[in-house]
This record gives sequence, C-alpha cells and structure tokens, in this order.
Amino acid sequence: MTVTAQTTAQGPGRDIDLATAVSLLSEATSVTVLCHVQPDADTLGSGLALALALDRRGVPVQVSFAQPETLPQSMRTLPGVDLLVPAHRVADEVDLVVTVDCGSRGRLGGLGDRLDRARETLVIDHHRSNTRYGRHNLIDESAEATAAVLTRLFDLWGVDIDRDLAHCLFAGLVTDTGSFRWVQPGTHALAERLIDTGIDSAGITRRLLDTHPFGWLPMLSSVLGSAQLVPAAVGGLGLVYALVRYEDTAGMGAEEIESVIDIVRTTAQAEVASVFKENEPGIWSVSLRSKSAVDVSAIAGRLGGGGHRFASGYTATGAADAVVAELLAAVG
Ligand code: MN
Repeated sequence: MTVTAQTTAQGPGRDIDLATAVSLLSEATSVTVLCHVQPDADTLGSGLALALALDRRGVPVQVSFAQPETLPQSMRTLPGVDLLVPAHRVADEVDLVVTVDCGSRGRLGGLGDRLDRARETLVIDHHRSNTRYGRHNLIDESAEATAAVLTRLFDLWGVDIDRDLAHCLFAGLVTDTGSFRWVQPGTHALAERLIDTGIDSAGITRRLLDTHPFGWLPMLSSVLGSAQLVPAAVGGLGLVYALVRYEDTAGMGAEEIESVIDIVRTTAQAEVASVFKENEPGIWSVSLRSKSAVDVSAIAGRLGGGGHRFASGYTATGAADAVVAELLAAVG
C-alpha cells in the first residue's frame, strides 16, 4: 500500500463522521472544492452543490478540476458553474480544500499540490479504493454516489436543498446509478425528494446520458467493430474489450468516449468488460466493468488504478497489443 506516501504533509489521514465534516465546513473562512480529472456528473454535481451552499453562507469558494481545460458540454447547464475557475486560477493557499468523488490524490492531477498548502483538507467520497489522502476523510463506501453523501451532510448542516442544489445532486445520482439501475434501499426516495423540488429530471438525464453529436454513430461503428471476446479469460467467466484508438476520438467529447463501455458491457458471454481509450497516442485510460462475480476495483488496483466493485479504471501506457496483454494477465 502507498497510503503513507499519499497523505498530506499535515500527517496521516483519519476517518471522520458527518458531524465533524459539518464542523470543518462551517468554520472554514475560504474553501477550494476540487473535482477529479475528466470530471463526471457526480464529482462536478457534488462539487457545485457544495460550492453553492458555501457561497450562500458568504464563504469565498472556488471549484475546479485539473483536466481537461474546458467543461464537457453535457455539464455546462449545471447550476453553480459560475463558481468554476480554470485550474491555473485556483488559489495557491486556502483555509480548507475539499475534494469530492476523488479516490486518490492522483485523481486530482496537477491540482494535488493544493492539499499541501491548505490549513485543513477534507476528502468526501464513496470509492472503496479511497486511499485516505486527506487529513480528514468522510468516506461512505455504501453510498451509491458522492451526491448521496453530500445530501446527508447538507441535512445535518441545515442546508436547504432547493431546486438548484437538487439539480446538481440529481445529476450525480442519475449518472452514478446508471439511470437507477444500480440502486439500494433509499436511492429512489432520495431521487423523489430531489425531483419534488421541481427539477426537470428527464431533461437533466437526457442531456447527461442520452445526447450525442451525429459523429458518435460512425465512431461507435469503428470502435465496436474492434471488439474482441476472450471466453477463457477471468478464469473462464469471459472478458470482452474494445479499443477507442486516438484517431477515433477526433471531434468526440468525453461523453461520447465514456458511452462505449455501456454498450460493450452488455455482452452476455463476458463477466468483465473493458474499453481502452487512447487519450494521447500510446496513453490509455482503461474502464473496467463487471456484472456480479468479480471485483474489478481489485484488478484496477493491481494496475495502479481503483474504483468500485463493479466499475473501476486505471491508466496504461504502450502499444494496443501490449496494454491488452497486460490486462489479460491481470484478470487471470
Ligand atoms: Mn461517484
């Protein structure tokens, strides 16, 4: 484990409860909220909801993520985006840095150094692979989304979850649950509560998950044509994978590239699905999904990444054949 190396200069991280997190937030005089690189709607929705709550209390607050330079199209209508600042404009020193939905310091990219210069650091997350890299860590591995953790925190803090906050939180909930496929007791009750504020839940969902430019269709044709089934992999449970090569990504947004795994993982003959996404020539971010029997966060962890039991990822470097071979060796 590399937990020690990843904790802040302030000392080893400790797990805290909601009440301690509320104390930290209510005492903070200035806050930076950091989302993970290649932000999804859970990290950004959670980050913006928290920033809106702080802004309404009169606390100076910035929200940011290290990469990419611009916000993905599908998230530009989230309330609170005016509190977003480009990575190079994030304050060097601040009273409290809060990270949301970010399982390791590495997922902060070039903004990880802001943890070292903050008076306090608070990590709010639900990844089972979370490395406790903050001084204070509010981690709920049972939560379906970081947005659900934020909701409980707001309730204890006395924050009014109005339509704007509900919009942000619903964005995280609907994406992390795969449009309410992966739920637990309480998930639908939370959704109902958020929808009851008057948000356009269908419109939010469509914009985040069901909207792509026409070029997505020929891209899918090329990428899905590359899919391979390896029945003997994963101890005979089967692996299916596809490659999104660098040339396939031209003109495509993150939403288009991230959508591929949701098609590949439907393969009946494979317990584990993988999509290799070549962000830069020879540099791949790899998505892993499993159905029920395999813990892909452990596989991703062996390859330097992390995530959840049924959804995880890691970064790989090299030629396509080599990165595929590396995964085949790791899944057994
Ligand atoms: Mn999440």
